[in-house]
Amino acid sequence: MRSTAEIFGVPIDKVTLEKAFNNFKMFMTDDKLSIITTPNTEIVMMANKDKELLEVLKNSNMNIPDGIGLIYASKIHNLEIPERVTGVDFMRKILEYCNDINGSIFILGGKPGVAQKACENIKKRFKNIEIKGFEHGYFNSEEEQIIIEKINKANPDVLFVALGAPRQEKWIYKNRKRLNVKVAIGVGGSVDIWAGTAKRAPVIYQKLGLEWFYRLLKEPWRYKRMTSLPKFMLKVILSRDITKPKN
Ligand code: UDP
Repeated sequence: MRSTAEIFGVPIDKVTLEKAFNNFKMFMTDDKLSIITTPNTEIVMMANKDKELLEVLKNSNMNIPDGIGLIYASKIHNLEIPERVTGVDFMRKILEYCNDINGSIFILGGKPGVAQKACENIKKRFKNIEIKGFEHGYFNSEEEQIIIEKINKANPDVLFVALGAPRQEKWIYKNRKRLNVKVAIGVGGSVDIWAGTAKRAPVIYQKLGLEWFYRLLKEPWRYKRMTSLPKFMLKVILSRDITKPKN
């Protein structure tokens, strides 16, 4: 049974990395497409202003808690979200699994060359994975049609979508009835990490829950988007009931 905690109207799955992975394995046995998202506080805040995004998150099959702010909120309001599960760690788990079962993947997103490089590096690390294809993430609506046909023809087990949030989540949801894959997951910057075009924060930042700070140091132009974390925390502290959507 699925167990979620609502944070400002967004259902966040109460999962550990292991539990999320077990859910993923279950999705792989399903006939229909399963959608996984990796929300952080920024996305939860966005969803409070963006009805379309909120609908996507309410109708996906699993939303893993990929943000330290969500864990703080859970601690303060007793929501029982056991741990942070990052998109990067989860992607690695999925890749390990695909390697074990000779599964197949397709990567959509990133700047030209990035998805291809990520696929090459993944193949070097996981020899049994079948790379069914890749496409960069800067396409128009005509090209989109061709990309979807390409994905469907390839029929991969897992489609990783890295178009940035919230575009990737909306893209998967909008095309859910047209995509011939078992699992589609929005993974954002993880593809850049696999390609080597971005680096994950050093372990010490990860352990201290300061990955957001590392990202701010590396990509200072994101500061505006990142002000959502303190705003989110303020709302969390001031709210009696954080389960309801807030503006
Ligand atoms: N990206 C893309 N198409 C777009 C916008 C972004 O392929 O129209 C890619 C971008 O190149 C990067 C990834 O999406 O590889 C994540 O982007 P960003 O860091 O802006 O998003 P985040 O996941 O942090 O929200």
